[in-house]
Amino acid sequence: MYLQFLGTGAGVPSKSRNVSSIALKMLDERNEVWLFDCGEATQHTILHTSIRPRKITKIFVTHLHGDHIYGLPGLLSSRAFQGGEESLTIYGPVGIKDFVLTSLKISHCHLKYPLHFVELEQEGVAYQDDKIAVKYMTLQHGIQSYGYRVIEADYPGELQIEKLKQYNIPNGPIFGRIKKGEIVTLEDGTVINGKDFIGEQKKGREVVIFGDTRFVSSHISFCQHADVLVHESTFGKGEEKLAHNYFHATCQQAAEIAVKANVKQLYLTHISSRYLGQDVKKLQKDAQAIFANTKVVHDLLEIEVPFNHD
Ligand code: ZN
Repeated sequence: MYLQFLGTGAGVPSKSRNVSSIALKMLDERNEVWLFDCGEATQHTILHTSIRPRKITKIFVTHLHGDHIYGLPGLLSSRAFQGGEESLTIYGPVGIKDFVLTSLKISHCHLKYPLHFVELEQEGVAYQDDKIAVKYMTLQHGIQSYGYRVIEADYPGELQIEKLKQYNIPNGPIFGRIKKGEIVTLEDGTVINGKDFIGEQKKGREVVIFGDTRFVSSHISFCQHADVLVHESTFGKGEEKLAHNYFHATCQQAAEIAVKANVKQLYLTHISSRYLGQDVKKLQKDAQAIFANTKVVHDLLEIEVPFNHD
């Protein structure tokens, strides 16, 4: 499971940062890529990555401001030209369906794959199967804006083959039964409890991705113990009032959420074009003063979401 930041700028594109989009790459786990937001020219940025648009099966939209959605019509239409036949579902606030369908209709674009929409409510579960769930909550941004929490199911423990060697079990269905934790009687009468030969189950990973928002302390519980938190950082230290007025957060407010929620790693994005070079370093340093495991991300940065080994 990898996160790749496709656009990390706030509001308008700059030479060094495009507008918002994040890819959650789960190629090993499910051969899929999910996007969180799709600002203008996201499809151009994707050209500089290994992502194939037909692998994008879900797009979660945090809110309907243009810098988070203007890339949708272009990406959706190009996906059809690049062999995308698998269906794609877009999750987001009420209005996302209208925006996308109107753009496609007026530009006479006919997709060759099924396109679905799920317009969300205040909070709940946007998607769930037996391997993964996506919960969401409403943030505070002047218009409807969501935070998403991707929760992987725990991985079952592995069969401890070495420990079983002494029993000389022939390859075949008995192994399968032991792996399921069943009680098995071998040919020589030995009884084996499968549960004694299965390693510990591995905790699934959890990633929280926030849309634009003010700092609100009630957001802390939504992020509790996440392996990764991606939070906006439109403003810097000392600009709390400005941040509040414009429905955004500062780097230190994001760090405060991270430290109080006991997350493992904080990534700051939605960086204003006012911050360049040393100013970006300062943004990161100011956040690190509150939460050490903080990094200000840049376009195309890819990070692995690690398993929690605590
Ligand atoms: Zn916004």
